[in-house]
Amino acid sequence: MPELPEVETTRRGLDAVMTGQVVRQFIVHNGSLRWPVPPDMPEQVNGQRLVACKRRAKYLLLQFNHGTQIVHLGMSGSLRRAPLDEPRRAHDHIEWLLDDARYLLHDPRRFGAVLWHCAAQGPVDTTHPLLSALGKEPFDPTLTAAWLKAQLAGKRQAIKQALMDSRIIVGVGNIYASEALFRARINPRIAAGKLSEQRCERLIQTIRSTLDDALTSGGSTLRDYLNATGEPGAYFQLHAAVYDRENQPCRQCSTPIRRLVQGQRATYYCTRCQRN
Ligand SMILES: [Zn+2]
Repeated sequence: MPELPEVETTRRGLDAVMTGQVVRQFIVHNGSLRWPVPPDMPEQVNGQRLVACKRRAKYLLLQFNHGTQIVHLGMSGSLRRAPLDEPRRAHDHIEWLLDDARYLLHDPRRFGAVLWHCAAQGPVDTTHPLLSALGKEPFDPTLTAAWLKAQLAGKRQAIKQALMDSRIIVGVGNIYASEALFRARINPRIAAGKLSEQRCERLIQTIRSTLDDALTSGGSTLRDYLNATGEPGAYFQLHAAVYDRENQPCRQCSTPIRRLVQGQRATYYCTRCQRN
């Protein structure tokens, strides 16, 4: 699944090449995505200039002066740049035809989305229902230990699950939650409300460092998203300390990594390094 680092890397790539260009033709090859692509979408964007490519959580925001296209890559999606003469591949459902290239949303499972938000309705991030209730971005400077501790106060839910709750912090997927907790030496099962401010501070730092590492490794695979030669769906491989390493020795202390299921998602941790 594309996680925050893949989406941010895609955004940076798209922003560098798409921003400032005019959409010559927006083509819906198969609009049956998670939600149907609005039938008037081509009318909205054809002939319009893209003024910025932004991101909120895992939503790409293609901004025009009169509105925003909200793009989500779903479970299996990717967006890539291809030469004008390259044939479309299977599962390339949505196409932005620009002057120098075409941009294709490839989405085999069709859980992605392309939606429209009209600027007249207000700023997309505070007024669109998919975005308005989202929590803080991991790199938002206002995400502080004191703020996080207040959010978690009284919560009996396990910290691993609270960490993945996008109403608190966005973009911490299953892999990154396990890895950040390992780096912070926090047991994934402890009640979220029990975390001290100091441990909240450490956790914020390890969330950022884990995502940063993925972004750094992603920089080298940027071409997967933007070149015709890239294989869509080649997501970043994090050098995981615990994730998907059940029974393998902990890289810190050699204790076998344990797997457990929390909220139907697998969690991996070291019972020694993350004792409490
Ligand atoms: Zn260990």
